[in-house]
Amino acid sequence: MTSKTVPAASFKPQASPSTWLGVMGGGQLGRMFVHAAQAMGYKVAVLEPAKDCPAGHAADDLICASYTDAAALSRMGAECKAVTTEFENVPAESLSALARHAFVAPSATAVSVAQDRLAEKQFFTECARQSGVMPAPHQRITSLADIDALPDSLLPGILKTNRLGYDGKGQARVSTKANVRAAFEEMKNVECVLEKMLPLAYEISVLVARGADGEAVVYPIAENVHRDGILFTTTVPGPNVSPECASRAQAAALEIIHRLDYVGVLCVEFFVLKDGSLVVNEMAPRPHNSGHYTIDACITSQFGQQVRAMARLPLGDARQHSSAVMLNLLGDLWFEQGSKTPREPAWDKVVALPGANLHLYGKDDPRLGRKMGHVTFVANTLDDAIRHCESACRILGVEP
Ligand code: ATP
Ligand code: MG
Repeated sequence: MTSKTVPAASFKPQASPSTWLGVMGGGQLGRMFVHAAQAMGYKVAVLEPAKDCPAGHAADDLICASYTDAAALSRMGAECKAVTTEFENVPAESLSALARHAFVAPSATAVSVAQDRLAEKQFFTECARQSGVMPAPHQRITSLADIDALPDSLLPGILKTNRLGYDGKGQARVSTKANVRAAFEEMKNVECVLEKMLPLAYEISVLVARGADGEAVVYPIAENVHRDGILFTTTVPGPNVSPECASRAQAAALEIIHRLDYVGVLCVEFFVLKDGSLVVNEMAPRPHNSGHYTIDACITSQFGQQVRAMARLPLGDARQHSSAVMLNLLGDLWFEQGSKTPREPAWDKVVALPGANLHLYGKDDPRLGRKMGHVTFVANTLDDAIRHCESACRILGVEP
């Protein structure tokens, strides 16, 4: 673990002249960051190539430019005291350029590890010396010769592009070397990693945040269900998670955030296997979809922590005050089942359910598989939260 750094002065909210914070990326994570920062009195600049974007609608300033535009980066750096990212694939060089003018958290170095699956797995392997939690067995693939040399023990497996994968994109399930060759060619022979297919019992994620003073907080274990490679629900506390598994996963996530000397919010995804063992999958150097429940169910939300960390303020209390189930709302809901006929989901009925908190991201163009919003059900008991989420599924026409 790294030693604690002595923080420089914090960037406190101030009315005149206003204190500005910046975020790279204009998606829904940026939008919820803007809301949290503005609630604390900051003004927020968003840098994003698309004019019509969820965070842009909420921002005080939308800098509409590519992530590598030098003029845009200097404007962001001059305007903002601190800059963060909501978009995992923001070029690390752009964060380095910004760091010459503003406090950048997380750092370009930390973000670049998370952008590269192989570098990430190597880093996890180093962390495992302390935590005992290893990544899945895997092998780097850059050529047909690498495929010929694959040990049979890695098959069946999943071929993943080393960079730029999300929501299950850039992945192929393979069971023979011939499958791997075909999938590798399909991915245009870019650098890939082949992972052994593991017998998953369930999937969990652990949200951690670390301040500029080196103090870290860890959230409860979130249990995640995916459908078609996209997060479907997050249930917290995870109903299948034993106290022993929870503390191992939390300790592993804390080891990762400290060893990276990370400042900001980090989400670490784990697999729990059928034999009960824990495997670390990947990390996201930003707030995460599985952490949206924190807005309604925790004392300080993941976005509130992101604001505090980048402003070099003390972190907030990560405790959960209500049981929670978060349901992702995909563009599919805006169409009659199995057809292209548009419809508007019955939000009046959904928000009438006990403990419902609806969050829509201001996207006016629903498409199949597109994340349009989420709804979090909070309750005194997990059973109640689950029940109300199931009612919402029935109202919305999705299989609970
Ligand atoms: P996201 O952006 O949604 O987190 P991603 O595209 O970065 O996804 P992964 O998280 O690596 O990809 O994988 C997506 C899903 O595929 C996992 O949540 C899990 O359900 C399944 N999966 C990935 N790797 C393995 C593995 N080695 N064994 C079994 N299942 C796996
Ligand atoms: Mg993932």
